[in-house]
Amino acid sequence: MLDIQKIRKDFPILDQQVYGKPLVYLDNGATTQKPRVVLETIERLYDRENSNVHRGGHHLSVITTEHYEAARETVRQFIHAAHAHEIIFTHGTTSSINAVAFSFGEKYVRAGDEILLTEMEHHANIVPWQMLCERKGASLKVIPVNEAGELRLETLDTLITEKTRLLAVTQVSNVLGTVNPVKEIVEIAHRHGVPVLVDGAQGIQHEITDVTDMDCDFYVFSGHKIYGPTGIGVLYGKEKWLEEMPPYQGGGDMIKKVTFEKTIYEDLPLKFEAGTMNYIGAIGLATALDYLRDLGLENIMAWEQELLDYATARLKEVPELKIYGNSSHKTAILSFLIGDLHHSDVGTLLDKLGVAVRTGHHCAQPLCDHYGIAGTVRASFTFYNTKEEADWLLNSLLRIVEMLK
Ligand code: PLP
Repeated sequence: MLDIQKIRKDFPILDQQVYGKPLVYLDNGATTQKPRVVLETIERLYDRENSNVHRGGHHLSVITTEHYEAARETVRQFIHAAHAHEIIFTHGTTSSINAVAFSFGEKYVRAGDEILLTEMEHHANIVPWQMLCERKGASLKVIPVNEAGELRLETLDTLITEKTRLLAVTQVSNVLGTVNPVKEIVEIAHRHGVPVLVDGAQGIQHEITDVTDMDCDFYVFSGHKIYGPTGIGVLYGKEKWLEEMPPYQGGGDMIKKVTFEKTIYEDLPLKFEAGTMNYIGAIGLATALDYLRDLGLENIMAWEQELLDYATARLKEVPELKIYGNSSHKTAILSFLIGDLHHSDVGTLLDKLGVAVRTGHHCAQPLCDHYGIAGTVRASFTFYNTKEEADWLLNSLLRIVEMLK
């Protein structure tokens, strides 16, 4: 059992008022708040230990390099990867997917090939593949969703063809909260010899993630969505792919030897880490992962499920409120519309009552098109949220309905 009131004290930003009302932060899908220990780590690093990694032989560079490589090991353990050199630091999910789309695409995708996505992907897991298809003369195919917001996996065997080069799927939908059966998807794709990239941006912080058990070929996520700093992310790739794929950026630190005739690239993981990395961000991310490990992901998942059940039941008290995403396996994301009220009007008024939610298409326009809507209001809960906050959301919505009807 988690002591939520004690945990909330770890997140100084939560303790404030907006427009004279206590902040109720329900926009955790967009970004999460940072525990004090992460803030203190970053301050300490800049204050006492900062120097560029893999560069100097002097004391500060050596200890920063040690912390950076220890951070890589922390990530490896957190996602249960086989090797630390399969962990590449990037700027975030978007840059990890772009890296694979470019590097894997350069090597393996040809004219006439196909990339398979799903209808519930975030634009970050659509646009880089579309750009690849445009460069190579390949095309996208899409696994549809059903009304509950689950993938129609019965279509998979026919959608995968001998031209499919890669399947990219989100672990958890950022709009619907649906937790996809990624292990099963990987199994089916591998039966057809197709590698799979899993977008873990909304999954890693809410589900126990084991890339070895999942057997995915690539797994990507962002530090800022898992209580770590912005500007840092992870690309996990199986060694066999990363060894074969070309670097997608050239520069310092990713080379063994440079002459004007030819460059010999570094071994993994540095081959994919050109230039000065966000090493402070990586160490901050590792601190956040340690914090979560200490709380226990099982405990976090249990509390978030309780919050989801409670908030779902309460929201149903609002007349004409429709929830998008009704899978029996979902994270604590509640996307909804109320009658014909515009999502941004509801969001603006919620803000005035202290409630931070996201409104709009949530960077998933094709999914909104599927439902024939322009967007939703999205309340995304996490472990530092409380049932009282769900009550405040409900009461605020009832006031707004009263005001706007
Ligand atoms: N994928 C999913 C499912 C997301 O929810 C997001 C962000 O909301 C992204 C990718 C992009 O993440 P980032 O902006 O951190 O690169």
